Amino acid sequence: MISKTMQDAINQQIKDEFASAHLYLAMSAYFTSINMNGFAHWMRLQYTEEVSHAMKFYDYLHDRGGNALVPGIEKPAGAFKSTFDAFQQYLDHEKKVTQMINGLYEKATKDNDYATEIMLHWFINEQVEEEKVGMEIIEQLKIVGDSKAALLMLDRQLAARSNA
Ligand code: MG
Repeated sequence: MISKTMQDAINQQIKDEFASAHLYLAMSAYFTSINMNGFAHWMRLQYTEEVSHAMKFYDYLHDRGGNALVPGIEKPAGAFKSTFDAFQQYLDHEKKVTQMINGLYEKATKDNDYATEIMLHWFINEQVEEEKVGMEIIEQLKIVGDSKAALLMLDRQLAARSNA
């Protein structure tokens, strides 16, 4: 059975994953509002992915005899100035999430909670992927620069994302 303090920490992470989902949905809405429909599609799948992260933690708590809390989520604070600005915020946010996952792992290690350590391996790998993809898109946006034609090509490319 999971300890009370680890349960509290995972419940906090459930809230943070849903908050990430909310932020990415706000970004998706922003991209739609500026007719970047490929970016909007990509970010909407990212929204779905974050909900699935929250649910992985939710299921894990129940598997360990704990109780998952359904959190209240605040409105995302973000305002987005451009496609580049929104993606920069995406990458900055994922870096924060990596720190949170690392913090959970550190706690699991200190508490000798081996099951939680192993469960978190998936999330540690996932964060490598999230930051990698974020960095790639930022680098591509730097290459795009002020070219509207190149931006539309990148938008088409992101429209092809099929996995969440
Ligand atoms: Mg996540």
